[in-house]
Amino acid sequence: MSSDAKKDARHKAAMEKQKESVDASIAAADLEQGVAILLTGNGKGKTSSAFGMIMRALGYGHKVGVVQFIKGQQLSGEEIYLRDRCPDVAFYQMGTGFTWDTQDRSADMAAARATWDQALPMLKDPSFDLVVLDELTYMLSFDYLSEDEVIEAIQNRPPEQSVVVTGRGGGSRLRDVMDTVSEVKDVKHAYNAGIKARRGVDY
Ligand code: ATP
Ligand code: MG
Repeated sequence: MSSDAKKDARHKAAMEKQKESVDASIAAADLEQGVAILLTGNGKGKTSSAFGMIMRALGYGHKVGVVQFIKGQQLSGEEIYLRDRCPDVAFYQMGTGFTWDTQDRSADMAAARATWDQALPMLKDPSFDLVVLDELTYMLSFDYLSEDEVIEAIQNRPPEQSVVVTGRGGGSRLRDVMDTVSEVKDVKHAYNAGIKARRGVDY
């Protein structure tokens, strides 16, 4: 056998083995239910991943709710897009109140509560297929919202509903109750090399 033919045969055998293991995992994962996903870590890609799932869900005509727990200084492309082009998506962003600049704890707590009051009915409504709670983790790390209440609402949501939580941190209890937890690692970020945040990429 030529060395190329040997390589081909080895590749084929390896692929067959991998296929067997993938097929077995697919057969074992047969529960039909919504998933709770936490996207955390210090690297870039949490909110944009959540919006990737929103696009997937909308592709299937699913009903989507989005609640953002931080008001950015900058209007974001995803906010513009949802507001202008996706009137069927229930979208709420924390109005006044929490930004990295505020130091008014009681006003921040009131804003967090008002925002949570928008999310809670979605987490109880089986007509929502996907609910995104963007930057929710900060409300827990600052103790602006009760961790017990948030976890209970996530756990008691309609069984077919999926929920995505984003934000750095997110305590170990939240990690424990989520089905999928991904940590985006900050290997490097353009910002630290002096490259300005970019429209359409960073916001
Ligand atoms: P994205 O919205 O791009 O998916 P993210 O949700 O993972 O980012 P956040 O912590 O919410 O990250 O911060 C949002 C903004 O901060 C984005 O403009 C992003 O490019 C920037 N950013 C994210 N991670 C870093 C980092 N490690 N260093 C500097 N800037 C960052
Ligand atoms: Mg984010």
